[in-house]
Amino acid sequence: MRACQSRTHREIATILPRVVSAWAVQLAVMSFAALSLHPAAQAAAGAATGGDILGRPSPVGLRQRARIAASSNLDGVEQVTMSSQDAEKSADTSHSAATPVETSRQDPLADSRQLIAREIPHGVDRRRFLMRAAVGGAAAVMTGCSSSPEERTAKAVATAQPAAAPSAPPLAPELNVVQQEKGPILTTADEFYKVGPGPSSSHTIGPMRITYDFYQRAAKLPADKLATATKLQVNLFGSLSATGKGHGTERAALAGLVGKEPATVDPKFLDSLRDQPDQVFPVKLGGKSIDVSLKDIVYDATKGDFKHPNTMTVKLLAGNDVLLEQEYYSVGGGFIEWKGYTPPKKNPPKYPFATMKELREYADTNKTTIAKIMLANEMSIAGKSEADVYAFIDKIINAMVATVKSGLEMPEDDVLPGPIKLHSKAATVYKRAMDDKFQADRGLGALSAFALAASEENGRGHLVITAPTGGSAGVMPALVYALLEVRKIDRQKIREGMLAAAAVGYLCKHHATLSAAEGGCQAEIGVASAMAAALTATAFDAPSLVVENAAESALEHHLGMTCDPVAGYVQVPCIERCAFGAVKAWTAYAIASNEIASRHRVNLDATVAALAQTAKDMNSKYKETSEAGLALSVVLC
Ligand code: SF4
Repeated sequence: MRACQSRTHREIATILPRVVSAWAVQLAVMSFAALSLHPAAQAAAGAATGGDILGRPSPVGLRQRARIAASSNLDGVEQVTMSSQDAEKSADTSHSAATPVETSRQDPLADSRQLIAREIPHGVDRRRFLMRAAVGGAAAVMTGCSSSPEERTAKAVATAQPAAAPSAPPLAPELNVVQQEKGPILTTADEFYKVGPGPSSSHTIGPMRITYDFYQRAAKLPADKLATATKLQVNLFGSLSATGKGHGTERAALAGLVGKEPATVDPKFLDSLRDQPDQVFPVKLGGKSIDVSLKDIVYDATKGDFKHPNTMTVKLLAGNDVLLEQEYYSVGGGFIEWKGYTPPKKNPPKYPFATMKELREYADTNKTTIAKIMLANEMSIAGKSEADVYAFIDKIINAMVATVKSGLEMPEDDVLPGPIKLHSKAATVYKRAMDDKFQADRGLGALSAFALAASEENGRGHLVITAPTGGSAGVMPALVYALLEVRKIDRQKIREGMLAAAAVGYLCKHHATLSAAEGGCQAEIGVASAMAAALTATAFDAPSLVVENAAESALEHHLGMTCDPVAGYVQVPCIERCAFGAVKAWTAYAIASNEIASRHRVNLDATVAALAQTAKDMNSKYKETSEAGLALSVVLC
């Protein structure tokens, strides 16, 4: 990304109109019927060339061209934008459209045909292919990153088809995560808030729990069977395969196989797998020792008829014979299931509820709070005392505070792992925010910095807390830290806030999803923000209706948010997204506590239903596949 910035805004502004011109001309020349173009594309192309769509000159001045800012919305997907300021600068530069930026470098626009591939691969929608190839070429030129026509072709093919893009296939009805929608909520806090290594609850914590589970099952096989075992093998499918490399899924899966658990694994162990990928570990199974390494974790098919987008299999083999095989699903938030899964038997809740309406009715009828109803349920479902419940919640609060602190303490020039070369910025944002002369801006800056800090820790693969997921691991800790460490709110209020937040998370899990592979980022950051709004309202002793309204607002304004991590790494847009999720949570509380609560027209249950429906309808390319959105438009060098 640093290298991508090697071109200045001025250079980009200079190139941009030419890029748009070049690919518009190219599209036209390639018999791409001009009339079939989106009208906005025609307008932009004509304006950018300073003439008509075929590039014929016109009296349109440079300033007017620049103002177009190349913001044509092609196909409703890609947008190439430039600030009007930069555009103005471009227009004021006399050689803006005529002189190459670097005469010593080969002009990438000298032959506009190089911007897009010439051959349209068989079976690919022509219009979409041309659009995507052109945008990919334009983005590469604008950012100074070069990619070959073959690479652009491959990317365009991968993202151009099918013509009518599908939403993700439905989840298998036998999955517990689907079936449990019918009954009352039985999830408990210790299932929901999990400590584990980042960067993703579904791609790191879930797979590690899965292989650890398989290891325990395999260890129970009869000794004579184990004596013949020769190999352990993990196959990753669907989204686990599509974006697993960026998430370190193979390292997490191997760690579970060698007996590491998410809550206690030393992140340095995972780092060592990244730095020395050839390490081999002996796994003891009965009297037998089987060597395992990263080579035993196979990135398998990304598309197929899977019961869940995060599917994986684990096998114990004796030569070619399968001694034990299990199909698993990482269903979001670190929760796992397997083929034939039946949930563990639990005690009935004291206050059975499946909706916020029911939960709030219990609170209001009993003249108590949502948090107190949740406490009673935690105690009855898990058979725990109040002290036990709060002891667990305290552990999670402390872990959240620790993750913010360690994120803020990281050196300002720290670079996160992976190809993006993303610099950490939590400490810088915090320091500069504290210097702001306006107090309100200090607060927003500091809250953002806390979220960045915890989320950057997630990006580093350090221990984080699923609230509800790893990708969203900056949101709740930011509010917990701000309320506890900065506002100095009584810890008991934070504990109760954590229970109210859990109620919101449970409802979203119960009726919608916590998995980005199922629902996009609205299911991660959106849910986290709603939880954080409920936490904040509860910490400030707000009535139950205000708690609901705050959670509803925060979720409502994340609906439709897609998941498109650049290069498959939980960094861009994820880290900043946590900061926005935290700030939106605060805003949601500010609105809910200042409006007339009874006039709030949208209830949380309706918004959770909208979350579920949007998740179902969302194009599968925007569900943690890195096939679209920023994952496509951001070009790494
Ligand atoms: S874009 Fe959102 S949902 Fe996707 S990985 Fe990042 S934080 Fe998670």
